[in-house]
Parts: sequence; structure tokens; C-alpha cells
Amino acid sequence: MGLVFDHLTLGQRVLFGSGKASEHLTAEVVRLAARRVMVIAASSEVEIARSITSGIRVELWYDEVVMHVPVRVAERARAAATRAGIDLIVSVGGGSTTGLAKAIALTEGIPIIAVPTTYAGSEATNVWGVTEGARKGTGVDDQVLPVTVVYDASLTLSLPVGLSVASGLNGLAHCVDSLWGPRADPINAAIAAEGIRALAEGLPAIVADPAGLEGREQALYGAYLAAVSFASAGSGMHHKICHVLGGTFDLPHAQTHATVLPYVLAFNAPYAADAASRIAAGFGAADALEGLQALREKLDAPRALADYGFTEDGIAKAVQIALPAIPASNPRPVTEANLTALLHAAMTGQDPKTLTDELS
Ligand code: NAD
Repeated sequence: MGLVFDHLTLGQRVLFGSGKASEHLTAEVVRLAARRVMVIAASSEVEIARSITSGIRVELWYDEVVMHVPVRVAERARAAATRAGIDLIVSVGGGSTTGLAKAIALTEGIPIIAVPTTYAGSEATNVWGVTEGARKGTGVDDQVLPVTVVYDASLTLSLPVGLSVASGLNGLAHCVDSLWGPRADPINAAIAAEGIRALAEGLPAIVADPAGLEGREQALYGAYLAAVSFASAGSGMHHKICHVLGGTFDLPHAQTHATVLPYVLAFNAPYAADAASRIAAGFGAADALEGLQALREKLDAPRALADYGFTEDGIAKAVQIALPAIPASNPRPVTEANLTALLHAAMTGQDPKTLTDELS
């Protein structure tokens, strides 16, 4: 049939450089002609935020950051921003902090400069999420895409190794899921493949030398590529499952992604030859799952959902919610039975290779 696809590239400026966040941020505030800046940083990241904002005038400091952006938290932040006449938001922190900035941008139309300190990648997507009760609502709106991202690996040096590993594997999951997402195309596949390569190089270097910048730079670069490919290809099976585990069962975001990824890969790889060979190549391995497992071994990665409080009782409910959400683009047909088996294996931490054998 030839090469036919429909690809949209999101417009965003990316400024990358270790030790350069302050300089980059100051220049961007001037370029955007912002007069009243709000800096959002959780209390644990406020010190990082202060260290990079000495060159700008900050009108409002804001630190009420809560994971998954509860609607009441979003509304308080929106009210504070409008009261102060804010015309630019600078978010300094992980996905939760970027998420709050996006919630404000969504309704108030205020532009964002994002300064990420984890590998979650929210800064490079136009996806927002706000939680009401136990339900996390998400949507897509270009207004929430930060106009500029300032990446500075030195700001991630304080991220503990365990959290760096889980967060980096969250990035890796963006890459892998992009290869079979509903809008997967050759451009986002190429970006995802380079993201896998960079994360596979960066994460072991962080474990080997947590105080070194090289691994952190590769991981941050990989996390950005991961988010770009994910924003373009859309949520695949992996994200639909993790969304339910996080939203309904309150499991921690990065660790859940890190744990579930090998099971989704084992499940889909035999049905997705092109994706599997790209993933294997990214790991420099002969086989995709073996490459991922060798990396996870080096990283001492999270391995069982039971370690985060997920129990047998939750499986049927998780299957019921996740099954209808899994896109038709998934390479392997998903049924109640095989999704139940997958979640059971992820709960116990059983070797994903045995899952492939069982299901084939
Ligand atoms: P997070 O932002 O909650 O951060 C995790 C923990 O790490 C927090 O305790 C935080 O204080 C700490 N931390 C962050 N940076 C640090 C640093 N440099 N040093 C020391 N500690 C640091 O978690 P996350 O995994 O970054 O983001 C998860 C959230 O982001 C979820 O709500 C998820 O849904 C959302 N997300 C959204 C998108 C999107 O496209 N909209 C993409 C990915 C993640």
C-alpha cells in the first residue's frame, strides 16, 4: 500500500543544558515579555526552584501540589493566579507539579514554562488530568502544552536512585506503548526508538553513579523523547491498565508503570514483530523482553504490584474498567481471560516470560 500516515508535531521550545536552567529561564521570561510570574513548586522542590529563579521577578510562589491534581486544589490555584493577575506560570517539579500548572492553563489560558525534575514527561504532552473524588478525568488541549521546557539534569541529582529508576521506566513505558498506540506512525516510532536507547543507556549510569550528570542527561533526553512519542501516538494498552491501577486503586504512578511494562511487552511482542525488533534494537539485545528484563535486573526495578498494595480482590474490577478502554490498535486481541492472567502475573511478580508461554 506504500507509506501513508497522518502525523501532527506539537510546537514547543526545548532548552537543554546541565547547570543552565537559571540562564535559560531568565531568557525565556524576557522573550515571552512576562510581567507577573507565578512559580509552582512543591515544598520539597522549593529550594531547587529558588536556585533557578534569582534572575526573574516572581509575583506569586505557590506550593500546594497534590498527586493527580484534585479538583479543589486546581480551583484554589486558579483563583490565586487570577487574583494576582498572573501572565506566566513557571512549574518546577515532577509530573504532579506540571499537572497543576496545566490545570490552571486549561481554564485560564496562562502559558507555562516547565522545568521538570523527574522523568515523567508531562511537560512535553498536551494531556491534562484532574481528579474528582476517585475518578481521574483526562483530556487533550493544546493550551496546556508548555510553551517552553527547560531541562537541566543537575536539578535531578536529588531524585533518589529508586525513584529515578521507577520514573525512568515510566518514560520507557511511554516509548514502548507508543509503538502500538492508536495513532502510532513511523515518526513517533523513530522518536520512541531513540528514547528507548537513551533511557537504556542513562538509567544504569544513574544507578552506577547517582551523583554523575551523564546518566541523568541521557535519562532526561530519553524522557522527553518518550513523552513526545507518547503524545503523538496516544495511550496504548499499558497506559490504559496503569490509569486504572493509579486512578481506582491509588497505586503510585511511576512504580506501577515500572512493574506492569514487562507484562504488557510479553503479552504484545509475539504479535508485533516490527515493534519488538525496534525495542530489542533500542536495548541492543536480540529480543525485546530479554533486553527489558536485563535492564530491569541491572536497575533492581520494581517487580510486583502486591508490593504496592494491589491484591487478588482488585483484579476483576481492574479488568472490568480497563478492558473496554484498550484501543482497537492493540496488536493482540485482549479478552477478560488473558487480561486477568496478565494482571495476576503483574500482581505476584511472576516471570513475564512464563506469561508469554502460558498465553501462546
Ligand atoms: P511526582 O511529581 O508526584 O513526584 C514524585 C516524588 O518525587 C514527589 O514526592 C516529589 O516531591 C519528588 N521529587 C520530584 N523531583 C524531585 C527531585 N529532583 N529531587 C527529589 N525529589 C523529587 O511524580 P511523577 O512521577 O513525576 O509524576 C506523576 C504524575 O504525573 C501523575 O499524576 C501522572 O498522572 C502525571 N503524568 C502526566 C502526564 C501527562 O502527559 N499529562 C505524563 C506523565 C505523568
